[in-house]
Amino acid sequence: MDVTKVFGTNVFNDEVMRKWLPKDTYKALRQTIDNELHLPPEVADVVANAMKDWAIEKGATHYTHWFQPLTGSTAEKHDSFISPTAQGGVVMEFSGKQLVKGEPDASSFPSGGLRATFEARGYTAWDCTSPAFLKEDAAGDVTLCIPTAFCSYTSEALDKKTPLLRSMAAVSQQSLRVLRALGNKTVSKVNANIGAEQEYFLVDKKFFEQRLDLIVAGRTIFGAPAPKGQEMEDHYFGQIKDRVADFMKDLDKELWKLGIAATTKHNEVAPSQFEMAPIFTTANIAADHNQLVMETLQKIALRRDLVCLLHEKPYAGVNGSGKHTNWSLSTDEGANLLEPGSTPHANAQFLLFICALIASVDRHADILRRSAANSGNDHRLGGNEAPPAIISIFMGEELTEILETIAKGKKAKSKVSTTLKVGIDTMPHLPKDNADRNRTSPFAFTGNKFEFRMVPSSASISRPCIVLNAIVAEALDEIATRLEKAKNVNKETASIIKDTMREHGRIIFNGNNYSDEWEKEAEKRGLPNIDSTVEALKTFPEKKSVSMFQKYKILTKEEVRARYEIYLGQYSKQINIEANTALDMVRSLYIPAIVHYTSELAEVIQRLETINASAEVQRDLLLKVSTHLESAYSNTRKLGSERENALNVSDSLKRAEAFRDKVLVAITELRVDIDALENLIPRKLWPVPTYADLLFKL
Ligand code: ADP
Ligand code: MG
Repeated sequence: MDVTKVFGTNVFNDEVMRKWLPKDTYKALRQTIDNELHLPPEVADVVANAMKDWAIEKGATHYTHWFQPLTGSTAEKHDSFISPTAQGGVVMEFSGKQLVKGEPDASSFPSGGLRATFEARGYTAWDCTSPAFLKEDAAGDVTLCIPTAFCSYTSEALDKKTPLLRSMAAVSQQSLRVLRALGNKTVSKVNANIGAEQEYFLVDKKFFEQRLDLIVAGRTIFGAPAPKGQEMEDHYFGQIKDRVADFMKDLDKELWKLGIAATTKHNEVAPSQFEMAPIFTTANIAADHNQLVMETLQKIALRRDLVCLLHEKPYAGVNGSGKHTNWSLSTDEGANLLEPGSTPHANAQFLLFICALIASVDRHADILRRSAANSGNDHRLGGNEAPPAIISIFMGEELTEILETIAKGKKAKSKVSTTLKVGIDTMPHLPKDNADRNRTSPFAFTGNKFEFRMVPSSASISRPCIVLNAIVAEALDEIATRLEKAKNVNKETASIIKDTMREHGRIIFNGNNYSDEWEKEAEKRGLPNIDSTVEALKTFPEKKSVSMFQKYKILTKEEVRARYEIYLGQYSKQINIEANTALDMVRSLYIPAIVHYTSELAEVIQRLETINASAEVQRDLLLKVSTHLESAYSNTRKLGSERENALNVSDSLKRAEAFRDKVLVAITELRVDIDALENLIPRKLWPVPTYADLLFKL
């Protein structure tokens, strides 16, 4: 396969625009994209027409405004290009108006109270900074997809893209102020970039289909451990099996066609766990791409009778999945602002941006933690596999030493013995990608970017990215204000570093984040340790959080409130689904199988005893099985009533707490008996595939 020929063939990218658009239309569109302006209607008409012709040439019959409602997935409503003629035929049409704006019935998307039911209209608006693309389904139908933002009749954001775009503008604006204060007159825009490493599991479809828990809840609610887990450490980076390699090949090809620069792929730590990563790109495009990656993973897996699991913890006892989100800022001139430079000036700039990160993450560790919260991640964070629930920054020893030395007002002496006085000497060489030296940190500086490792595998990267952009914008705002007022920028830089380290240096931790000592130390330092989604969501209504989003025009007070309600609701609904699934499986699968086995045992015992043979083992087995069965039965009733109680709580926060403290606990208790029974019952009587089937039979 000639990748260069395949890459981007399904994207209305710059090259295609150049080819299909009249010169002045191309210029006008380019200007709109680069400067985020409004597209004039006459131009929109020409663009729409060209887009339609291009799409039709590639087999498209329909178009859709593709958007990301607060459900966490994507939404699309397909409309055909056809328009009837007076002669009873049709022509294919697509106007600028249809391209730029859509009006889907929004009543079935979560709005968190933003949209009154009588006003069901929602609007989708083209995000022309993210290129349109073609989606092919298995039946060969091709649809032109237009990435759009989704908002209410009254312009409130009902999606993930709108605040992401707003946050990108905010961080660009504040970065520019800092750059200007440092004397830069040429940069006109700063980009937030993201590279998202996607972890996932694959499972054979025939086993998946027999597991209701995987089908509806995304994770196994029951299942005794397989005889083998990940203890042999033989899967990580191991040889990729043919079936999986074929899948990955198809996946790459599909992603390349969509212009997604999928580059790395490998086996992950847990059995049947894998990872893919594209080359990083502008945040909103990266967010769109990641949605497409998740969608394509699932689509391509099915073609090979596999199912792709994106849940954060599909299996107990082995590692779960995350989505390391690599984040950086770069100028429109291509300079990475998190890259230590080769001139004193560049280094002062670098250190100031690092300070912005230190201050912002320390100040808003709770909000950052919240941006990675979902019910799946609650099974992961804090376990000895994923980052802990405490946010800290890994800076690496060299950089920490530099910062600390400057903070103490001395000349910095680095490991490579270069001296540094801010803005004067050159920066000592910092080892790039020093991340590998500390895989336990939730937020690591990796040489020229930060890697946020808490992000859940199934979630959109928009949420963490919005928060990062927002909190960094706020810190840069403060820095810019100081620099703008300063008589001596160089001296002010040193004092900003000093103040940052004094006030926020506690957030830096280069040690082992999995250790108990760190938990104690973090508590001493006053760092928040937020161990569940519900606790994380509680920080939403806090003034600190609301006013920051408001100040930088990323979310209004009402939009923040709406998100709080939606995410709380989603949490409760997810646990409710898990409870329903558990009850269904226990009542319709496990209990009947166990009852069947007890009756078999009873018969055998009776027969043995009539011939005076020993039935000791059979009696013992029956006793054990019956004990667990009774316990499971009573725990099923308990789960049923806890679920009812939780559903009857009207306050959304209290309801979510009830689901966490009562319902989830009851599910876990029920699991204990069922998993114990799995080890007591003959395999042929066990009604569902086991962990060994799911994890080792690809
Ligand atoms: P690792 O597993 O060691 O973290 P990977 O190569 O799997 O590394 O993933 C690193 C990710 O970080 C890739 O998506 C890569 O494109 C991205 N990345 C690299 N440089 C930057 C940068 N400056 N800004 C944002 N992301 C970056
Ligand atoms: Mg990584």
